[in-house]
Amino acid sequence: MSSNNVPTVKLLINGEFVESQTEQWRDVINPATQEVLARVPFATQDEINAAVASAKQAFKTWRKTPIGARARVFLRYQQLIRDNIKELAAILTAEQGKTLADAEGDVFRGLEVVEHASAVGNLQLGELANNVAGGVDTYTLMQPLGVCAGITPFNFPAMIPLWMFPMAIATGNTFVLKPSEQDPMVTMRLVELALEAGIPPGVLNVIHGGVDAVNAICDHADIKAVSFVGSTHVGTHVYNRAIQSGKRAQCMMGAKNHAIVMPDANKQQTLNNLLGAAFGAAGQRCMALPVVVLVGEARNWLPELARLAQTLKINGGVEPGTDIGPVVSCSALERIHGLIQKGIDEGAELVLDGRNPTVSGYEKGSFIGPTIFAGVKPEMTVYHQEIFGPVLCVMQADKLDEAIELINANPNGNGTAIFTRSGAAARRFQEDIDVGQVGINVPIPVPVPLFSFSGSRGSKLGDLGPYGKQAIMFYTQTKTVTARWFDEDEVAGAVNTTIALK
Ligand code: NAD
Repeated sequence: MSSNNVPTVKLLINGEFVESQTEQWRDVINPATQEVLARVPFATQDEINAAVASAKQAFKTWRKTPIGARARVFLRYQQLIRDNIKELAAILTAEQGKTLADAEGDVFRGLEVVEHASAVGNLQLGELANNVAGGVDTYTLMQPLGVCAGITPFNFPAMIPLWMFPMAIATGNTFVLKPSEQDPMVTMRLVELALEAGIPPGVLNVIHGGVDAVNAICDHADIKAVSFVGSTHVGTHVYNRAIQSGKRAQCMMGAKNHAIVMPDANKQQTLNNLLGAAFGAAGQRCMALPVVVLVGEARNWLPELARLAQTLKINGGVEPGTDIGPVVSCSALERIHGLIQKGIDEGAELVLDGRNPTVSGYEKGSFIGPTIFAGVKPEMTVYHQEIFGPVLCVMQADKLDEAIELINANPNGNGTAIFTRSGAAARRFQEDIDVGQVGINVPIPVPVPLFSFSGSRGSKLGDLGPYGKQAIMFYTQTKTVTARWFDEDEVAGAVNTTIALK
């Protein structure tokens, strides 16, 4: 507890939850009520160094811990998350604002990665080629890198930390996590459960903070790899800084995802899917659908879309039947209002204005309802900037090709979707669209962890994505061994002065 009776968020260093000695703190605020839930420290450089040192020390033994023992930690961990999912969702809703059902979804999508991490024995297998030359075998070892670090955003405070440390630790690395300073509490509860599952002291460490902590991670000589998820401008900075100091880096960044609606699509299903994807989580998902391109006759569906959007219920995230909770903070709300005003000023048509809704019982909350712009043009700010709120831009195209061209001209490549009953149109779309994650009648095509998250172009830096096979590659170094064993009684052959194996 701090002096004013608000709980403090702890650091995790070498298996101990400790109070930071910093002078710099920030409030964690419930966005529905503005109640201060906790205070989060901005860790000092000494504390960050201590976290990295403990991870470096723990790596010496963890890297040699049998793969089955590592896997069993994650088998226990997935059960603990499952048993505590309601409590985790409640913490998440209180500090972030999304509805309880959506908060459970956030935890569940992370839980799927933990389940996958428990299969590490199969995932981290090397390869072997027998007799590549006379009596010579070649095989690969997929060895852990050392201390890895993760930097996470506010919008999925359960799922995204779980994209990172389970895969890194299961493959034999140790980890330093820096959660979002806006909503670190559910992350810390997940970390407590990870220790309960058997992660040894020093293998997982947590520091808190902002710019300085992120820069310290990027610069630290003992950190070998950095995984980042967040906005494009911060991700680009993190990538460049981490690469410059000789690290591996993967950065999943901002988005502007488009859905194409063909006139032959199932109308009711499509409209329901669009509403969920554009306005669910108050539009604060990197895989949300903030742009819809209505093709041909589907252009006439706009009034029905706007009418249905008005039926969505805005309320505190804990109230049953809520569709849209508050956005994460008053400053986020202010930024969204500013962008809506910009849209009006630049000539987009405000078809539905969700600003300043009345939410009884939550008068201080940072709420905004579904907002729809029509007549949006590529040069408008509401189109080319990520709004990260419940604001949908509606555009039009005569033909599928025109819509594909529009999407391919956008610099982002996180996700996209098409709604159609035509297999030919869907196949054309999947083939020609230059976006890393494609939905066919699926509005938010986030891959399950049998695959990897594969956003592309401006939405990603680094070749390998989080979780799935690509995460195994990211968190390991391939060592290739070429071996020959001589029999004691073998007669010495001639000296080989060529490069060929004989
Ligand atoms: P953010 O970039 O503001 O913050 C991400 C992390 O970076 C946080 O831990 C924060 O403390 C740190 N940070 C913030 N400003 C910094 C700075 N100037 N220098 C160094 N570090 C800094 O992102 P956010 O607002 O928390 O999250 C929303 C953004 O994340 C959106 O752009 C969204 O599209 C993106 N996102 C992308 C994905 C994806 O997979 N592509 C997933 C989730 C969120």
